[in-house]
Amino acid sequence: MIKENIERIRQTLPENVTLIAVSKTYPRSCIDEAIKANQLDFGENKVQEILQKAQPDEPIRWHMIGHLQTNKVKYLIGKTALIHSVDSLHLLDVIEKESTKQDLVTHVLLQVNLAHEETKFGFDETELDDVLKHSYQHVAIDGIMVIGPHCEDEQRIEEVFMKAEKLKNSYHFKELSMGMSYDYKIALKHGATMIRIGTDIFGQRDYSKQK
Ligand SMILES: *Cc1c(COP(=O)(O)O)cnc(C)c1O
Repeated sequence: MIKENIERIRQTLPENVTLIAVSKTYPRSCIDEAIKANQLDFGENKVQEILQKAQPDEPIRWHMIGHLQTNKVKYLIGKTALIHSVDSLHLLDVIEKESTKQDLVTHVLLQVNLAHEETKFGFDETELDDVLKHSYQHVAIDGIMVIGPHCEDEQRIEEVFMKAEKLKNSYHFKELSMGMSYDYKIALKHGATMIRIGTDIFGQRDYSKQK
């Protein structure tokens, strides 16, 4: 089913949109299934899980989408195509430092908290000006990541996604990572360039499987 799910979703996507298959809590075998549908972008929310699932010399692009602790950065640098969840200047500094050590450029997105739910990490939109004033030699800020409000109210979700679209346009960001299984169709209407889909591809998750 995984292959069919990916193919079905991909058919609905504009060409410029990257589908990220969120494989957190799912075993490597599910990733291998997805690869059969030419899926190469995978999202995980724990550094440990990326390190466990990654195999040497394969073309997979790993996307870090969960809160990243600074003490884990050194294990992630060089193993990830894009970190979506950069939520503090301190974290940016640590990514710069570790990327410099490894002599590479790490691509990141700034997580912006537009839904204002207590549990959400991320910058306030008012902080973006200041963050973007900093310059980095070994970090490339490609855009922003937004998580929609956890609610059934489509209008509320749409309001948040419209704000994100405005930010993308006013800062000329290349990437806007926005939209999950329950809200990606709305995200696509508002300029998402990357959607992060787990459940609709792999099925319901069992979080007890995640250490
Ligand atoms: C788990 C997760 C997703 C995928 O969610 P689904 O509802 O399973 O599609 C997307 N983004 C983030 C940040 C996540 O943690």
